[in-house]
Amino acid sequence: MYIWQKNQWQHIMQKRETLPHALLLRGCAGIGKQDFALELARSLLCKAPIETHACGECMSCLWFKEMHHPDFRMISPEDIESSDDAPKKKTAKKSQISVSQIRQLIDYLSLSQHQVNGYRVILISPAETLNVASANALLKMLEEPPANTLFLLVTNQPQRLLATITSRCQAIDMQLPTRQVALNWLEQQNLANAESLLDYAGGAPLIALQADADADLTADLIKQLALGAKLQPFMCATMLLSLGMELAIDTLQKWIFDLTTYKLTQKSQYHTQHISALQALCKSVNLNLLLGFQQKLVYAKKMANHPLSNEMQLENILLHYTKIFSAKTISTQF
Ligand SMILES: [Zn+2]
Repeated sequence: MYIWQKNQWQHIMQKRETLPHALLLRGCAGIGKQDFALELARSLLCKAPIETHACGECMSCLWFKEMHHPDFRMISPEDIESSDDAPKKKTAKKSQISVSQIRQLIDYLSLSQHQVNGYRVILISPAETLNVASANALLKMLEEPPANTLFLLVTNQPQRLLATITSRCQAIDMQLPTRQVALNWLEQQNLANAESLLDYAGGAPLIALQADADADLTADLIKQLALGAKLQPFMCATMLLSLGMELAIDTLQKWIFDLTTYKLTQKSQYHTQHISALQALCKSVNLNLLLGFQQKLVYAKKMANHPLSNEMQLENILLHYTKIFSAKTISTQF
């Protein structure tokens, strides 16, 4: 559990004995909702919790550590192409929770639980990756929940869940930490430039941490994006994909947001270190096309979990990007 989740934790723990059968943890990306859910599961399954926390030493905690606790299941999008001899490519990252995964869960839950009078915890994350078929299969279970079972659903995009699923869960809104709390935490993680990374991450500390790890890749990407009409869509798509589709679109959105902001107000929110690149691009960018492109990204973000070819989709987006700059203006510049 992260320091900024303390109150939420206590709030849930007060109701430890009377928890509903399903909790929906929702809030923006990068604030540790899934880690919170895992910690909650661990604590509820622990045989000798210390105050409200898992002891870390009982059989249950050891099983949990090895991720094979018989009373715990985590359902996440399946990795389809996980062939052993192929190098692990993020492009193969599967983006949906399939109906067969939920059917397996139903089979598992129809067996009695391992520990007498114990709890079973099912973690579904990210819940917005349920497709229509798997969401409906899950709904049936939520409508007639098995005894002593807690479903934990985690989502960044609650608006994408079926309303019928949401209404069967008790929602818990997870908040962004305050800036100071986030900065203190990042400094404890030995981040040198915590302030600018936190700005880039829109205040979400775990995204800031990830941005630090991806710093080299992001720098290369910005170099490409700064080429404007001369960007190489195919090469750039490959680079973006290694971030995963959602983060790829997010990276583009931040760049386009700043390009628009700079064009209109000569300010930048996320790319304060790349003002000269933004300035140069603003001379040739067509504002109407830029706004149209922004809409395209909003749509792409909604589709980020759709099982289309992500690579093709990104190439298409980047080709579009090269067309929002007017070649004419560039040539008159020099
Ligand atoms: Zn324990």
